[in-house]
Order: sequence, then structure tokens, then C-alpha cells
Amino acid sequence: MNIKTFQVSTAQSVITTDVLVLGGGPAGSWAALSAAKQGARVVLADKGYCGTSGATAPSNTGTWYLPKGAERDAEVERRLSRSSGLADRRWLQRVIEQAQIGLDDLGNNGYPFPFDEQGNPYRANLRGPDYMRFMRQRAIAAGVRILDHHPALELFWADGAIAGAAGIHPRTGNRWEVRAGAVVLATGGCAFLSHALGCDGNTGDGYLMAAEAGVRLSGMEFSSQYGLSPAHTSVTKGLTFTFASFYLEDGSPLPETGEDRAVRIARQLVAGEKVYALMNRGNPIEHEWLRQGQPNCFLPFERIGLDPFQQPFPVTLRSEGTVRGVGGLEIINNDCATKVPGLYAAGDAASRENLTGAVSGGGSPNASWAIASGTWSGRAAALFAASLGDKAGTRLVRGLGQAGLRPRKQPLEDELISEAISAVQAETLPLDVNFFRSGARIALSRQRLDAVWADISDYLVGEGRNALRAREAAAMAATARWIWASADARKESRGMHRRTDFTKTDVQQTRRIFTSGIDDVVVVAAENQLQEVA
Ligand SMILES: Cc1cc2nc3c(=O)[nH]c(=O)nc-3n(C[C@H](O)[C@H](O)[C@H](O)COP(=O)(O)OP(=O)(O)OC[C@H]3O[C@@H](n4cnc5c(N)ncnc54)[C@H](O)[C@@H]3O)c2cc1C
Repeated sequence: MNIKTFQVSTAQSVITTDVLVLGGGPAGSWAALSAAKQGARVVLADKGYCGTSGATAPSNTGTWYLPKGAERDAEVERRLSRSSGLADRRWLQRVIEQAQIGLDDLGNNGYPFPFDEQGNPYRANLRGPDYMRFMRQRAIAAGVRILDHHPALELFWADGAIAGAAGIHPRTGNRWEVRAGAVVLATGGCAFLSHALGCDGNTGDGYLMAAEAGVRLSGMEFSSQYGLSPAHTSVTKGLTFTFASFYLEDGSPLPETGEDRAVRIARQLVAGEKVYALMNRGNPIEHEWLRQGQPNCFLPFERIGLDPFQQPFPVTLRSEGTVRGVGGLEIINNDCATKVPGLYAAGDAASRENLTGAVSGGGSPNASWAIASGTWSGRAAALFAASLGDKAGTRLVRGLGQAGLRPRKQPLEDELISEAISAVQAETLPLDVNFFRSGARIALSRQRLDAVWADISDYLVGEGRNALRAREAAAMAATARWIWASADARKESRGMHRRTDFTKTDVQQTRRIFTSGIDDVVVVAAENQLQEVA
């Protein structure tokens, strides 16, 4: 079978712009809006439909809304103390500040925040569907050109800087190109197609594209976040479970070991036991409030005719990888620039170690980070593009994509795509591999993933709509290799990185770990040891 590889010159649609934003979740929407406010021409390309795709769109999302004062200061200290020594006070302060500015801006522009009992708008929570629809409308009103169903497959390089991107239209298989003065990567994290809520477009594409340009990643060992969900659903929303008690199959309570609830549940599931939840906490008024506020959590129960307040139901843990994990692209300054000129990162595409260290960024930091990093990166990208003047659109570009796009040997038929995805999932999703980690298992995963990677780089490519799947498989494999390389290097337990062979936190390892490289993965520990916070 003669499968064509990805050629820059064969694009059916070529657009020239100042700023290209890849990804249309909250981070991408804020970036696009911010760049447009600087007067830049902005194109936003999303893999799905900007407004409904990404991890925020199907959820309610808690955000930091903390005006300057004692409450904000206390939250900064609380977060620092939870971060296992890897967060940064200055970044926490500036993100909380910028999130507040952004949320006020939303309110001032008509976003319908609810009111609290005193009649004040309550700005610390955004309803995903409303929020993302609102951001789409704002971006369009600001002149942003949105390209829905336009996944990017590779970045362009010209004259020592990033110069745009190319992708495919999955339905038609047509190729598209955008030549741009600067690019913001806001493609979200990687959840390895685990079917966790809203995460199936999050396959690490931005990590791979940026790494091909030479950007390194940070905190990838903190990628073992799992969301609790009713076993028959993908709904990994946490709020409803605050009203639940947990039981084993024989009706006895989930054993109390002094560990986190997720760890206790994971232990039972790994041992082959079933764990059940029953929402028997709270009162009928609170239950009704929950039903009204979180309708998509209850729909799956209605479908099977189960009342979760009266009847126990089995639960499971679904991988959220780096979505509610931490790791991502290294940013090098306040503007969220990467080390590659013309390339910026926002939201889950970027590492969130500055805010959360070794623990999950769900529950406010991530949503606030999407607002702040989107705003800063969009503005900086617009300024960078402006500094190039007219030459931005006329540069001779080169596509940087390799694995999954331009195999080194004779391309193989498309079935390798499914095989590669399954092989990566086997090394990333199971609790006994990734939730609880050990040196021996990490070594095995690394060996297996190196073999998968060799096959992908040598042979994998997809035709038409399979071009996206092939590239997603490559991005997932690359992400998994960076995760295991950094997890191997961190010989201790810290935050969500739980090693069964090194169960304690080692103060000497209070430093960040960076990974880079495509075929040969390189791991570097930061030279400076960060201050351990009690
Ligand atoms: C169930 C759940 C509940 C959560 N609750 C909270 C909470 O309460 N508080 C909190 O702070 N955080 C929460 N989070 C985390 C939060 O949702 C994410 O941190 C946030 O969505 C990140 O925004 P983002 O724009 O970076 O990524 P996303 O929202 O994931 O958006 C990424 C976008 O990039 C697009 N994309 C991907 N690849 C490509 C490509 N190759 N080309 C073009 N486009 C691409 C996707 O289609 C998507 O639209 C929750 C997450 C989940 C899963």
C-alpha cells in the first residue's frame, strides 16, 4: 500500500495571520482574545469545536477569585505548603491576581455569574458550557477567526523561529496551513484516551509539536492523577463524591488507613476488589442543590434507573494524566514564552509546577492558570509578531513534524495506529503501573515504549482522517516516554508520584526534573534545590 506522507506544499488552504492559537479551550480562548486586544490578526484552530471541546467545556470549574488581602495571602501559603516544595510564591501571587482581573472582565462584559446570599456576584466558579460558549462569542466579537475541526499536526519553522502550523481537516482529509508571526500552544494535557470527562481530545499533541522544535518538559513525573467516576460512566467530577460514603462488596466500609481516599480506593481496585459509593451524606435540600448544579453527573444514573442517594453503585478511577496532573512544556518567563522564539504555551500544555508543585491543579489552580497564562501568552505573541513586521507571512517555512507524519522507512498500513495506542495505554492507564509505581515496572515500561516509539517513527503514518490518529498515537507515545524517564529519575515518593520502592519523600530531591528529546530522551534535574516547605 502506498501511503503518502505529510507534505507542506500540498495544503488546500493557506492563511496568513499575526498570531495562531492552537487549541480552543479556556487557555486558547483567553490567548486569542488577549492577542486580538493588542490589535493582532488572530486565527484559533481547534481539534474539535471551540466552545464544547476540551476538559473545561463539560464541567463546572472552580477558580481562584481572591481579591488582594488576607484570604489571598492565606491561600498562597496553603498552596505552597501542599505543593511538596516545588511551587513558587511569586507565580501563585501573579496568577491569582490575573485570574481575578480576568473574572472581573468576564463579569463586566456580561457573563452571568450567580449571586450569593448577600446579593454579590459569586465569581469563584464557572459553568463549563456557558463559560466556553461565552468565550467563543467574545473571541469572535474581537475579530478572532476560529477554525473548528482543524487539528494541528505540526509546527512551522522559518529563520530561527516558529512560523505557523499545518494540520488536517479530519472529515475531508484536506490539509491546511497557517503562516503566523507567533504561535500559542494551548492544546491541553494528555489523558491517554482514558475516556475521562472532556479529555479525549487531550492526547499530548502540543507536547510533541513543541518538543520537535526543541522545547523541554517539566514535572512530567507528576502525571498520575486519576479521577473517581461511577464505573459505568466517564464522569470524573469530584463534587458529587463529597456527599458519598464508600463500601466494599460485602458492605463493610472502605478501610481507613490514614491515606487519601483515592489511594485507599486504588489499593482495593488493584487487589481486584470492587468499591461502591452511596451518596448518603448531606440532607435532601443539599441533594436537590447538587442535582440542579451538576446535572450531567446524574444523567447516567437516570439512564440506568439508579438512585445514587439510595442505592450503592460501583466506582472506578480513570486516568487524567497531565490534565489534572501537573507536567507540561517548560516556560521561561512571565510571558509564558518557551525557549523557542515565537512559541508560547498556555493552560495544561504548559507545566503547572509553579502553582501546584507535585499535587493536582484541579479545584482552582488549573482554571486560573488557563485565564492567566492565556492572557499573558496571547499578549506576548502579538507583540512578538508585530516585531517581525511584514516579513512574518513571507518566510520560507519548513514543517517540523516527524513521528506519525513522516516515517523514516516505508510507511505501513493504518492498523499500526490502533496497536500503538493500545500499547501506550497498557503502560499508562493501569493503576498498578502508573498510580503505584516501582523501579522495576518503570524499567519495563520504558523498554516497551522505546520499542513502540521505534515502530512509530519508522513506519507510522495515516491517510486522510487517519493522519490525525497517527499523530495522536505518536504524541501519546512521546508523552509516555517523557513521563517514565522523569519518574525513573525521581527516586522518592512526592505528591502524586508514588513509588513503592521509595516510599518516603527525600528532601535532597526537592528540585524539578526536565525531560526533552524525541528519539533519545534526555533527563536533567534542576541544579538548584528548592526550599522545602513543611
Ligand atoms: C472533570 C474535570 C473537572 C475539572 N475541574 C476543575 C476545577 O474545578 N478547577 C480547576 O482549576 N481545574 C479543573 N479541571 C482542569 C481543567 O479543566 C483544565 O486544567 C483546563 O480545561 C485546561 O484548559 P486548557 O485550555 O489548557 O485545555 P482544554 O480545556 O483541555 O482545551 C484544550 C483544547 O485543545 C484542543 N486541541 C488538542 N489538540 C489539538 C491539536 N492538535 N490542534 C488543535 N487543537 C487541539 C482540544 O480540542 C481542546 O479544545 C478539571 C478537569 C476535569 C477533567
